[in-house]
Amino acid sequence: MARECAEKGYAVTVYDRRSHIGGNLYDERDEHGILVHRYGPHAFHTNSERVWSYVRRFGEWVPYTLVCGASIDGICVPTAFNFVAVDTFFQPAEAQEIKQHLSACFPQCSTVPILELLDCEDAAVRRYARFLYEKDYAPYAAKQWATPPERLDRSIFSRVPVRLDYRNAYFDDRYQAMPKDGYTAFIAKILDHPNIRVCLGEQPVLAFDYSEKKILLQGEEAERIIYTGALDDLFNYQHGVLPYRSLRFEWQYEEKDSFQPLPVVAYPEAKSYTRITEYKKLPPQQVSGTTYAIEYPLPFLPDHSEQEPYYPVLTPESQAAYRQYTKLASHYTNLTCCGRLADFKYYNMDQAIEAAINLASVAF
Ligand SMILES: Cc1cc2nc3c(=O)[nH]c(=O)nc-3n(C[C@H](O)[C@H](O)[C@H](O)COP(=O)(O)OP(=O)(O)OC[C@H]3O[C@@H](n4cnc5c(N)ncnc54)[C@H](O)[C@@H]3O)c2cc1C
Repeated sequence: MARECAEKGYAVTVYDRRSHIGGNLYDERDEHGILVHRYGPHAFHTNSERVWSYVRRFGEWVPYTLVCGASIDGICVPTAFNFVAVDTFFQPAEAQEIKQHLSACFPQCSTVPILELLDCEDAAVRRYARFLYEKDYAPYAAKQWATPPERLDRSIFSRVPVRLDYRNAYFDDRYQAMPKDGYTAFIAKILDHPNIRVCLGEQPVLAFDYSEKKILLQGEEAERIIYTGALDDLFNYQHGVLPYRSLRFEWQYEEKDSFQPLPVVAYPEAKSYTRITEYKKLPPQQVSGTTYAIEYPLPFLPDHSEQEPYYPVLTPESQAAYRQYTKLASHYTNLTCCGRLADFKYYNMDQAIEAAINLASVAF
């Protein structure tokens, strides 16, 4: 949004209460020279030509197809689950039956959401779906969301569908890549414009002038405020707290070549952590030793300054509360909300970028 407004001639000030640019995309080299993503593993993927050509304006991108894994009964298989999972966890005759029935029930489909497999009329397909659901999706979701799976929005279970072939890739998008110099350098290029000023480590003071229908920035009227934080935070929690999940990352370094077979591995059987990311594999880096981060999901507590709101917990109640906040926001004529927090959506990077480009083209 800052870049789009700057290019239209507006003087833009970007504030972030964190001490760095890039939001959750922020990456940096750790003390061992390994490029790590401080807020969890990020792999760029998109089907949007528009977004793909937009991001390439701001640096070189290298093709990178993310393959993740899940460790089930001590065996790591690739995710999104493909036919390797069928071959690994079922005897050959049963595996053959499952693969045939999957292909017959879902002709022309390369992936199917787990919930659709669970609802399938075919018993062999359902058996396989139940296995994956009980061994991976359900325990992972229970830790990640701390909400009974049936109360979660279906879209959460559709994010990582099940493959009906041997393809090894987490995403199917046409463009999958990583910024050659990292995400922070990519964002720095976006912000590198004479009309953009960046203030870090600073939470601007926003005040409400209800009668003028304006939000004031640091006591003064701003032509436009583009707010990318959480709406409950902006409006002082007057309609209650919007639920988010937070994460704690436990960072480890070992003097070994490899810690796990794939860059990101889910450990659904582990008691309190969900997954481990080994950064020298995301993307491949020729370094000795290895740094990895163990991810522990937590509830997000707004008064806990150490925590970040990462994932909106999308339930009917939370979405109703969010609508109350958007109603409040619509009262202020100089307020534009966008981004993962303000839109209370589980955006990927490309969706966040596309939403911003679209918004900038209609709002300015
Ligand atoms: C663990 C994890 C893994 C992910 N992996 C992927 C992936 O592999 N691929 C992918 O495409 N996407 C991934 N994403 C999603 C990606 O991070 C988001 O799409 C992207 O960060 C959205 O950008 P944003 O600007 O909307 O929000 P954010 O990146 O969250 O930035 C919002 C910024 O606003 C600041 N802020 C909030 N409130 C205030 C305030 N009141 N005052 C000042 N500053 C404020 C915050 O400090 C933050 O820096 C992942 C997200 C997470 C959490």
